[in-house]
Amino acid sequence: MFVDSHCHLSSPELAGRIPEIRQAMREAGVDRALCICTTLDEFDLVHRLALDHDGFWCSAGVHPDEEDSREPTVDGLVELTRLDKVVAIGETGLDYYRLAGRELAELAWQRERFRVHIRAARASRRPLVIHTRSASADTLRLLREEEGRDAGGVFHCFTETADVARAALDLGFHISFSGILTFKNANDLREVAAFVPLDRCLIETDSPYLAPMPFRGKVNTPANVPLVARQLADIKSLPLAEIAAITSRNFERLFLGTVPRS
Ligand SMILES: [Zn+2]
Ligand SMILES: [Zn+2]
Repeated sequence: MFVDSHCHLSSPELAGRIPEIRQAMREAGVDRALCICTTLDEFDLVHRLALDHDGFWCSAGVHPDEEDSREPTVDGLVELTRLDKVVAIGETGLDYYRLAGRELAELAWQRERFRVHIRAARASRRPLVIHTRSASADTLRLLREEEGRDAGGVFHCFTETADVARAALDLGFHISFSGILTFKNANDLREVAAFVPLDRCLIETDSPYLAPMPFRGKVNTPANVPLVARQLADIKSLPLAEIAAITSRNFERLFLGTVPRS
C-alpha cells in the first residue's frame, strides 16, 4: 500500500470528486494521504476531509505564495494542532520564484511567516511541511536560526540540488519526491534521489498539480502516487513493494508517530 504524503484535495479541481478519487486510490493500492492546508480560510475544508475519511490526515498552515492571506500566529497554529487528525504544520517555507522581479527586502513578510510556522512546529511538536523554490539558502538559514531541527519535517516536492538535499538531511529532514521525478528532463533530480537514504524518502503527488508521466499536464490525484514510487524503485534498483513499505513506514514515523523515531 502507498501513501501520498502531500496533496491538495480541497482544491477546486478535486474537492467535488472525493468519492471517485477514493475509489481510484483503492484500485491503485493507495490507502492514505496527507491533505495540505494553504490558507487559514481553507483549514476547515482540509480538516473536514481528514475527519470524514479513514486514512486522511491534514496540516495547518499558510503557503508562502498566499500573499494577501490572513497571517497565522504561533498560538493560533498550535491551537489547530490540538484538533483531531492535524498532524503537521504547513505548507510553509519560502518561494522567491512566484514573486520574482521584486527586491528580497520586499519579501520580509514571507520570512517572518516562515519563522512563525517553525516556532509553532516546535511548540506543538509537529513536523514541518516545507515548500522551497528559488530560496533554498534562506530556507536553510531560517531553519537553522529557528532551530527547526527540533520539529523536523519534510522538504516537499523536492527539486533542489544535491547540496541542498544534503543540508536538509543534516538538519534531520526528510525529502519528498513528486511526479517531477518521472519527467524526461529531470535527470539531475533522479541523481539526487539516488543518494537520499531511503529511510528519509517520502513520495507525494502534490495533486492536482504535477501529474507524473504518462499523465503530465493532466489533473493529478493521489491514485497516481505509485507512478512516483515506480520511478524511485528504478532509481534505487529495488522492488516496488519495498519502496511502498519503506515510504509508508517513513510517513508513519514522521507524521503519525507510530514507528519509533530512530
Ligand atoms: Zn508546495
Ligand atoms: Zn503543496
